[in-house]
Amino acid sequence: MSTQQDPSTTPRTVWFLTGSQSLYGDETLAQVAEQSREVAAMVDGDERIPVPVVWKPVLTTADAIRRVMLEANADDSCVGLIGWMHTFSPAKMWIQGLDSMRKPFLHLHTQWHRDIPWSTIDMDFMNLNQAAHGDREFGFVQTRLGVPRKTVAGHVSDPAVGGRIATWARAATAAHDMRTLRLARFGDNMRDVAVTEGDKVEAQRRFGVSVNTFGVNDLVDVVDDVEPGAVDKVVAEYADLYDIAPDLQVGADRHETLRYAAQLEVGLRRFLEAGGFGAFTTNFEDLGGLRQLPGIAVQRLMADGYGFGGEGDWKTSVLVRVTKTMAAGLPGGTSFMEDYTYHLEPGNQKALGAHMLEVCPTISASRPSAEAHPLSMGAREDPVRLTFVADPAEGIVVGLSDLGDRFRLTANDVTLVEPDEPLPKLPVACAVWQPHPSLPTSAEAWLMAGGPHHTVLTTAVGIEAFDDLAEILRTELVHIDADTEPRRFLQELRWNQAYHRLADGL
Ligand code: MN
Repeated sequence: MSTQQDPSTTPRTVWFLTGSQSLYGDETLAQVAEQSREVAAMVDGDERIPVPVVWKPVLTTADAIRRVMLEANADDSCVGLIGWMHTFSPAKMWIQGLDSMRKPFLHLHTQWHRDIPWSTIDMDFMNLNQAAHGDREFGFVQTRLGVPRKTVAGHVSDPAVGGRIATWARAATAAHDMRTLRLARFGDNMRDVAVTEGDKVEAQRRFGVSVNTFGVNDLVDVVDDVEPGAVDKVVAEYADLYDIAPDLQVGADRHETLRYAAQLEVGLRRFLEAGGFGAFTTNFEDLGGLRQLPGIAVQRLMADGYGFGGEGDWKTSVLVRVTKTMAAGLPGGTSFMEDYTYHLEPGNQKALGAHMLEVCPTISASRPSAEAHPLSMGAREDPVRLTFVADPAEGIVVGLSDLGDRFRLTANDVTLVEPDEPLPKLPVACAVWQPHPSLPTSAEAWLMAGGPHHTVLTTAVGIEAFDDLAEILRTELVHIDADTEPRRFLQELRWNQAYHRLADGL
């Protein structure tokens, strides 16, 4: 089996394309080349953009445009293309190239100069600096061809421009990673559950991810083979990083429970590494010879960047993984999440999110506790889990549903808050948030959209990253935010239904 490459070490680039035409003559084209190098260098110099931006020679013919697109398609390191028309580039030249382009695209509508040189501007300057209408010609042809893209306008010295390019570059990198993502399901999804079902063939066509099921006893074999020395190391790491419950500590009567949890982690990690998997699912109904439902193991693997979904929920596992890729290196955290229960006090309404065990510790800066408690589901030993409360922050929850004819992403802006009181009896990690615009409107809109009960919660990236990702993946995204009004939202859902059915064709 192939080995998953760590996204942070795989070389990645974004190509910077500049459009012009031969009409202007060599002297002007030399200036176009020089100035476009400067603009590309400014974009590349923005440290927020996580991949190198590589300047390509100015494009002046249909054949050169088509060839650069084919080269980009064939280059595994190229995650996307930025295009800018420095001068006027008659856009029929771009039709074949754009038609063959298979990489995410960002149309950068900028110009070399920030200010008009009022006292010296002459016709030579006007001939050289025509992006204001050159990019309009280019925008037209992209719309005419239906090219999915992000359009960003402004001078590259404006930090907002670099910020928007950086967000797109993160989404493009995550979509690139998704194309080779392999997901391992241990068992099928939970019996009789509807929303965790879905079309895995369509997911591979649309997102690239390959989703396959393994008998849980394939994992049991690897776990049972883990040598005691490897368990010792992980148990020592637990003691370094977490407050270990007294009954789990060395010499205490349940220390063996902690050792088995560590053995499970080593085995799970080995299975995923050997198979090149970047995401996985478990199902408490199907544990075979496992003595515990994986808890702390799943939490720590998520913290290392793996996607995860409980109850066989491979769609949410994919979404956790892709969100972690988009968020790589940014402050904040990302976790598998489930709306669990509400606080409906008038004027103080909020949601408590959690899961049976599997919440990622990246959403909290506090030192977690490692504890074992009975699980009311799944007839196995008490599983070990990390408990903590998510930090207050601005965040977003996003879910992925399969509506039968397409996938829909549903997103809701939330503000994570401190719980009103300590939760001394809650045996799992949790997050407490106020959904926008309000709990009732958020919940009504989410239910109307058919959003799932499993989500990804992130405080590291916001809606713009998911907007960019949805555009790249040509997947519907509905957003519940401070401005959402239920009646209009329902209309949006209905219009989207018609649009996406038409857009996908027959
Ligand atoms: Mn669940």
